[in-house]
Amino acid sequence: MTHPTREVAVAGDPPYTIHIGPDLLDDGALLARLLRGRDAMIVSDAHVAPLYADRVAAALQAARPDLRIHRHVLPAGEASKTLASFAEVTTALAEARMRRDATLFALGGGVIGDLAGFAAACWMRGIDCVQLPTTLLAMVDSSVGGKTAVDLPQGKNLVGAFHPPRAVIADTAALRTLPARELRAGLAEVVKYGALGDAAFLDWLDAHADALLAMDDATLSEAIARSCAHKAAIVARDPFEHGERALLNLGHTFGHAIETEQGYGGVNHGEAVAIGMVLAARLSAMLGLAPAADTQRLRDLLLRLQLPVEVPPGLDAGRLLAHMRLDKKAVAGGLRFVLWRGAGRAEVLGDVPEAAVLSV
Ligand code: NAD
Ligand code: ZN
Repeated sequence: MTHPTREVAVAGDPPYTIHIGPDLLDDGALLARLLRGRDAMIVSDAHVAPLYADRVAAALQAARPDLRIHRHVLPAGEASKTLASFAEVTTALAEARMRRDATLFALGGGVIGDLAGFAAACWMRGIDCVQLPTTLLAMVDSSVGGKTAVDLPQGKNLVGAFHPPRAVIADTAALRTLPARELRAGLAEVVKYGALGDAAFLDWLDAHADALLAMDDATLSEAIARSCAHKAAIVARDPFEHGERALLNLGHTFGHAIETEQGYGGVNHGEAVAIGMVLAARLSAMLGLAPAADTQRLRDLLLRLQLPVEVPPGLDAGRLLAHMRLDKKAVAGGLRFVLWRGAGRAEVLGDVPEAAVLSV
C-alpha cells in the first residue's frame, strides 16, 4: 500500500516545505532538488548513521553522480550538543573544503538537528541545511521553525541562532526503528498542538490513539502534518519568539522543572511535557480559566497514549518551584505560564500566584 507524500508549506524568509511520508530518505530526486552546489555533508549520530546514512548517500549519489558526499558521525545523545561538537563539525566542514553553496543534511533526532543546524548557520555565515528528522519529536517540533543551538554546562540551548532549514524531509518509515518510549515522547508534543490550538485535533487523536501507537504510516503522516501546520502557523506569525511563539511552551515550565530536578535517568522530555500539560491544565482550572472536565479529557488522552500524567513520587514541590523561578523563559517579577482556556485554547499569563502553583 502506498501513501501520498504530505507537504506543509512554511511561510517565512525564506519559505520552505516540510515533506512527510514513508521511504522519503530514498527519494534521490527530492533530495537532489534541494542542492545548490557540488558538495554535501551528512551529519548524523552513532545510532542513526548505521541505519540510514548509506541510504541517503546512495539516493543522493544516484540522482547526482557528480556530488561529493562527506559524512560526520557523532555519539548519540544530548551530550553531543556542545561547543566541542560544534567545533568538530565545523572543522570537518573546513577539511572537506565546503563552500557557501554546500548543503548540510542533518540526519537524526533533535540533537543532531539543533547541532548541525547551528553549524550550518555559522559556517561561512550560513549555508543550506536540510533537516532529515528521524524521531517523532524532531519531525513535529525541533526540525521546524529554524531554532538551532548547543548547550553549555550552565544550561541548555544557551548558544544558538535562528536559521530556517532549506527543507524538512520526514520519512515516517524511519520511526519503525525508534524505541517505543521515544515515539510516545513525540506524541506528547503532538497532543500539545491539539491542546493549545485545535480541539478537533484532540478528538482526532482520541479516535486514532491505537493506530498511532501501532505506528500506522498514514495515521502518523496525518498527525505529523497537522502538528507541523500548527507550528508553522505560529512560527510564521512570530518567527523570533517575541510573543505568540511562547504558546509552544505549554506544559514546558512544569516539565523543565521536573526534568531538571530528576536529572538524567528520570522521565524524558516528552514525558515531562505530558505531566506538565496536566499540571498547567489543573492550574488553569484552579484559577477559574478552564473547565475541570477538559483537564480530565487531556489526562485521559495522554494515558491512552501511554504517557505519564502525575509528578513522579519523591519530588518536592518547593524544589520544583525553585527551578521554575530560574527558568530561562521566566520574566522578572512573577512566574509566567502558558495556561489553558479549555481544549484548544491557550494563552500566556504572567504573575501567577506561587501558592496556586505549589498546590497543583
Ligand atoms: P535525540 O536526537 O537524542 O534522539 C533520541 C534518541 O533516539 C537518540 O539516541 C538517537 O540516536 C535515537 N534515534 C533517533 N532516530 C532514531 C531512529 N529512527 N531509530 C533509532 N534510533 C533513533 O533526541 P530528540 O528527542 O529527537 O530531540 C531532543 C533535542 O531536541 C533536545 O536537545 C531539545 O533541546 C531539542 N529541541 C529543539 C527544538 C527546536 O525548536 N530547535 C524543539 C524541541 C526540542
Ligand atoms: Zn518540548
